[in-house]
Parts: sequence; C-alpha cells; structure tokens
Amino acid sequence: MIISVASGKGGTGKTTVAVNLALSLSNVQLLDCDVEEPNAHLFLKPKIEEEEPVYIKVPRIDKDRCDYCGECATFCQFNALFVVRADAEKDIEGNVLLFPELCHGCGGCSLICPRSAITEEDREIGVVKRAKTLDAHLDLLFGELQIGEPMPVPVIKAVKSKLDTRKTVIIDCPPGTSCPVIHAVYGSDYCILVTEPTPFGLHDLKRMVEVLKELKIPCGVIINRAGVGDEKVYEYCSEERIEVLLEIPYTRRIAELYSQGIPFVERIEGWELAFLEMVRKIKGAE
Ligand code: SF4
Ligand code: SF4
Repeated sequence: MIISVASGKGGTGKTTVAVNLALSLSNVQLLDCDVEEPNAHLFLKPKIEEEEPVYIKVPRIDKDRCDYCGECATFCQFNALFVVRADAEKDIEGNVLLFPELCHGCGGCSLICPRSAITEEDREIGVVKRAKTLDAHLDLLFGELQIGEPMPVPVIKAVKSKLDTRKTVIIDCPPGTSCPVIHAVYGSDYCILVTEPTPFGLHDLKRMVEVLKELKIPCGVIINRAGVGDEKVYEYCSEERIEVLLEIPYTRRIAELYSQGIPFVERIEGWELAFLEMVRKIKGAE
C-alpha cells in the first residue's frame, strides 16, 4: 500500500508524521519527496548506502549546422533559448544562447530545428540517496535538488522510481498544492493530510482536499498541535465527511524531542500503537 503524507502548507508537521508513522510499521519504505528541503534523514540518522545523480536533457547547439533562423527560441515556452541573428552589415555574428536553468528538458527544440542542429546532453540537477536506519528496520530514499535549481519534479520522479510495492510505502510530499505535490502524491492509495487547527491550516487543508478529489485519492486528516486555534478544522472535516485519524497534542515534550531531532514514537509510550492502529483503519477502509 502506498500512503502519502501531505499538507497544503509547510510547517504543519508533515515530516514529523511521516517519520513517526514509518518507524511504527514493519516492512516499510519511506520516500522523502520533499526534495527542496528533505529532512526525514535528520530524524532517522540513517547510513547512506548509495547515491545516484539525477539529470535532465538540455539542448546542445551545433553552430556549424545552425543558420540562426530563430525557430527554436520561438518554440520554447520557457524562454530558455535566445537567438542572435547574424548580420554581416552590422558585423554581428549569429549565436544561440541557452539559459539551462530555464530549460524544462522537453526536447521540443531538437525536434523542430529544421537543420538538425540541436542534440541533447545531460545536466545534473540533483541526487537520489538510498539509506537504511542503523537497525536496518527502515529503507529511506530521499532526493536532493541542487541549490538554485528550479525544477524539483524530475528529482521527485527519480525518488518514486525506487518505490518498492512489496512494502508499505510512505511518501513524504513537498508542501503546497502545486506540480511537485501532484507528482509526489500521484498513484497513492491513500493520503494523510497533516494540518493544524488554525485559519491558515484550514485554508490550505481545503486546497489540498480539492486536489485529492480531482486525483480521486481518498484522504484522512491528522491534526497536529491540537489544542491551539479553534474548532473550524474539525467542523470542516465533519461537513466533508473526512475522518480525523489522529490528533497530536501541542505539548512541550513533543516540541523538545522535535528540536533534538528525536522521533516522538521512540520516547513517548503509546504513539507507536496509535500509528499502527491508524494504518490498520486505513487499510481496512480500502
Ligand atoms: S532552430 Fe536550429 S537552426 Fe534555427 S536557430 Fe535554432 S538551432 Fe539554429
Ligand atoms: S528542451 Fe524544451 S524547454 Fe529546453 S530549451 Fe528546448 S524547447 Fe526549451
């Protein structure tokens, strides 16, 4: 079963839930798809066993073939190409400039170039790391997008390509509701939405629920920092018939463990069982 853990906004405790949930289960694989800021490994302190670079294809211009017609630049919707047209009278040499960080690697320019002047080459944008917790209980895969790179999706796809369906797979999704989240959550059997009982929490929860409706992925809610804020998240869940799976209270003890990078299931009795029962309930509802 594939269970994704998502939230409409950052800072709700999504990774805390993903890590504590994964530690409560056996035969489990945790995929950290929050590739712009992966931090599950900070809590798990695993041994990295393997690293695999992630590339996208970017164009390479053969200047001997190119006549600077400009068709590639016109075609590119991401303004990743700029063609300087040659002008002998003004003594301007032709050139094709590529802005690699804007290129989405769609391959279109190489297909439409009338002079077959464009080939493709690899550009590294990130890495996928495979790791195991020291007791070998948990397989962790996480992606890291290189600093300054704007496209997390290829790295997310590379992490998800390692998915092992023989295990219970937990996917820690990026925050928000845009493309990276859709790619991370896509294909899940169930999505746990982590929120907090505040107006911001409710606003972003609603957006994520709409996304999951479109994707036809069933969902339930974990309310983190329960006890702060108001009742509106509970009222919304009840109106929408979304199950509140668990509440994690706003306590000093949990906050302290978090600040020390210690998953609270390892130190506070009863939580492992609570996560286990929650998964049983989710599996039973399938
Ligand atoms: S489409 Fe091809 S020939 Fe035209 S400017 Fe681009 S690379 Fe050069
Ligand atoms: S591969 Fe696609 S995104 Fe990249 S430069 Fe060519 S047309 Fe633009």
